[in-house]
Amino acid sequence: MNRLISSAAAAAIAFTSTAMATETDKFNYVADRFADIEVLRYRVPGFEQLSLRQKQLIYHLTEAALWGRDILWDQNNRYNLAIRRLIENAYTGYKGDRNDPQFRALELYLKQIWFGNGIHHHYSMDKFTPGFTEEFLRGIVDTLPADKHPGDDYATLIDVIFNPSVMAKRVNQAEGADLIATSANNLYAPGLTQQMVEDYYNARKDTTETSPVMHGLNTRVALDADGNVIEQTYMAGGLYSPAIEKIVDELRKASKFAENPKQKAVIEKLIEFYTTGSLKTFDDYSILWVDDTDSQIDFINGFIESYGDPLGMTGAYESIVNFKNLDASHRTEIISSSADWFEANSPVDPRFRKDKVKGVTAKVITAAILAGDSYPATPIGINLPNSNWIRAEHGSKSVTIENITQAYDEASHGNGFNEEFVPDPEIRSMMDRYLFITDNLHTDLHECLGHASGRLLPGVDPDALKAHGSTLEEARADLFALYYLADPKLIELGLLDNPDAYKPQYYKYLLNGLMTQLIRIEPGKDVEEAHMRNRKLISEWVLEKGSAEGALSLVKTNGKTNLVVNDYPRLRSLFGELLGEIQRIKSEGDYEAGRELVEKYAVRVDPAIHKEVIDRYAALSIAPYKGFVNPVYTLVKDSDGNVTDVTVSYSEDYIPQMLRYSSTYSPL
Ligand code: ZN
Repeated sequence: MNRLISSAAAAAIAFTSTAMATETDKFNYVADRFADIEVLRYRVPGFEQLSLRQKQLIYHLTEAALWGRDILWDQNNRYNLAIRRLIENAYTGYKGDRNDPQFRALELYLKQIWFGNGIHHHYSMDKFTPGFTEEFLRGIVDTLPADKHPGDDYATLIDVIFNPSVMAKRVNQAEGADLIATSANNLYAPGLTQQMVEDYYNARKDTTETSPVMHGLNTRVALDADGNVIEQTYMAGGLYSPAIEKIVDELRKASKFAENPKQKAVIEKLIEFYTTGSLKTFDDYSILWVDDTDSQIDFINGFIESYGDPLGMTGAYESIVNFKNLDASHRTEIISSSADWFEANSPVDPRFRKDKVKGVTAKVITAAILAGDSYPATPIGINLPNSNWIRAEHGSKSVTIENITQAYDEASHGNGFNEEFVPDPEIRSMMDRYLFITDNLHTDLHECLGHASGRLLPGVDPDALKAHGSTLEEARADLFALYYLADPKLIELGLLDNPDAYKPQYYKYLLNGLMTQLIRIEPGKDVEEAHMRNRKLISEWVLEKGSAEGALSLVKTNGKTNLVVNDYPRLRSLFGELLGEIQRIKSEGDYEAGRELVEKYAVRVDPAIHKEVIDRYAALSIAPYKGFVNPVYTLVKDSDGNVTDVTVSYSEDYIPQMLRYSSTYSPL
């Protein structure tokens, strides 16, 4: 559960450092803009300088990454693939006026489901509402050739698309609801209840086991003919076999170009996992992967993060292929080499600290491809593996994806956000100078130390915080980063050159958590996504405690609410206090206290502030969500068919890329 996403899409990264921006000006960062989405491009600086062998390794890993796309679509909802094909066939087969408002609405819907990897919004988890009519769709479908027609399923698909009460929410986290029965994802078959699933796993979990596998990570839970709960495993020969076989083919090709024997062993162990479905093998793979810190090229590929599962167990298919940014990694190496100092000085009860932080390796990477759960919306930082015991015994790898943060930063130049929401020119100028570096440092600290810090007391179930686990885990990592951003240690380590550099980061974080991130929520709805809940929890808690003593406040001037901070050092101590409490909750598995924090501070939205934020944003027309198209890699061959180079191109647009992925990489 360890990915960091851009803290407020547009809002967070509306500021830029003066250091970049020169030769990047010509690059066209914006690929598309629709609904609440802006699709950007990212560059892959340094790719040309890699060796031919490294380029070929990357090429085959990117192919492996893309072959898993359909898996995620099917995990998200069992009608997603059929609906994608239906709408794509209607879109490409339409013979009428392409400016017809009905057709434009169909195109918009298609762009939205591509972005959501299915019929639900990637962030709010709500089902998209089509702006075209059933009659319009039927009119096109009736003209399609038989092989493009959905056949007997048509009536079902129409109901799923147009009936708002069918499959309304992909992941339901509402307190008190049956989280399985009311969620529309396809990780659990129809007919299952939360109780049945919990009973099933409770019978399988052995809390005395010291190296437990991550139950349910690669399975769909279903009912057999007799009504018994069973697991269907994602593996070659099992569920999703046609896609997994393709992934394995490309991994086999990639392994021939491995940089060293350690990396080759990693790839081969992953192939073994995909062909056996064994979670023990996945743990073995994760250990090999964590230990491989010498290779320049790295990748994740598998069933990784469990945000899409209301019980936080099954991993969504995801792949990111990347290589190390050697210059920028100097920064994270400094941080990780001081990991023990940070742990020993953290504001948590010593009983909950690690004696020694094991092998936190951190690096800054350049992403070469984003796939599955990381595409088109992508994290800016990742810390893996997720297995608690592997993290404790073997450590974890943490990355900051700087070509992505740079694309965000560049693309949001001059969009008017800071003039609107940051009235104090002094803070604005501090943001210009320090926000890019402190954003990156925040990500480094969050991923490299935050998630890796602390320990569970013996016998505490790592899943004890249940549905609130993701939110509290993200809060813990964010608080760790916030607390240390203001520490003189960062100056001592040469990472910052100004003891006040943390202030614009604090300001932006609280502004986002209290106000601007609400742009992502529809009027009348609660905050649901774990990272948003985490930021709201931290910000509202600090506002409540800090405003009582005048450290900060929300002040309304000329009808606009603005954040005023009077005492930054006090904010730091409040972050430290909350970190101590959340670490205690995690270490002791105190579900009740965790639930109270989340329910009190992280969920409910003040409708007046919400409306104000939406109105102020509307005047700026900034998209609340961003994502990316991938570059295109092409093998260059000589007349004998030998590969002589791999080229990278950035010219593919959003619609062509999505249609190409659907026609090329769709084995399910
Ligand atoms: Zn995180």
